[in-house]
Amino acid sequence: MLNHWEALEHQAMQEQWSYAQFLLALCETEIERRWSQRLKRALNEAQVPNAKTLVTFDWSHLKDFNPAPLMQLTTDSEWLKRADNCLLFGPSGVGKTHLACAVARAVVELGYRAKFFAATTLVQTLQHAKRQLLLPSTLKKLDRYDLLIIDDLGYVKKSEAETSVLFELIAHRYERKSLLVTANQPFSQWNTIFADDMMTVAAVDRLVHHALIVELQADSYRKRSANQRAQTQDTSQNTLSEVSTSAPVPAKTSN
Ligand code: ADP
Ligand code: MG
Repeated sequence: MLNHWEALEHQAMQEQWSYAQFLLALCETEIERRWSQRLKRALNEAQVPNAKTLVTFDWSHLKDFNPAPLMQLTTDSEWLKRADNCLLFGPSGVGKTHLACAVARAVVELGYRAKFFAATTLVQTLQHAKRQLLLPSTLKKLDRYDLLIIDDLGYVKKSEAETSVLFELIAHRYERKSLLVTANQPFSQWNTIFADDMMTVAAVDRLVHHALIVELQADSYRKRSANQRAQTQDTSQNTLSEVSTSAPVPAKTSN
């Protein structure tokens, strides 16, 4: 408020505001400032890259895909209040991580707290906590996030110690706080992630009980971008070589 009042006072004098109008403008500016500071902090905490937003996502790459249910998660926070989950499936490069980040960002913009984790990093953190006998308090600390993103669940290696912490996290958040999970493999292959079939069934059961399940099917966007870059390079190289072959040969000079 200290930074703004002089400029606002100047404007108020020029436009002959009443005291009430001036006070209102001052309060509004302060609320806006606090909101944008909170947003900045929360986005920083969420650890989502700036570029991965819904605006930069090209939906046309996902043929016959209905984005409405996913978009609803970004505009309506009811799912967070119900502690529902979202599961994004699809092969590599189709945009799972991009969309997960975009949803996380939107959730933060709605005023909630989110945090992005690569599944393997999260598992390492939880394992470390377990070794220190701090798993319960670590899980409780994670409750401060309305949404946790677990990216690339399938990259977690199957070993009892690793996947049991993952299971404990899933069980702890069940009907308490939301999870957004991305994975390359369908559920039928999740027995390669968890220690045994029983744990797999129990984990899947808890995740899907209240969840939006989204399947992304397309060619890899990464590959497409790489191909496009290669084509552009080819074209510019061809143009360059055409220019150089059609360029006039300098006349021989004799001295
Ligand atoms: P996945 O997690 O499914 O392997 P990513 O989300 O990491 O895929 O996407 C790979 C790259 O392609 C990222 O740089 C991402 O921003 C970009 N990308 C993927 N799909 C799209 C899309 N439909 N529109 C814009 N960028 C996309
Ligand atoms: Mg990914």
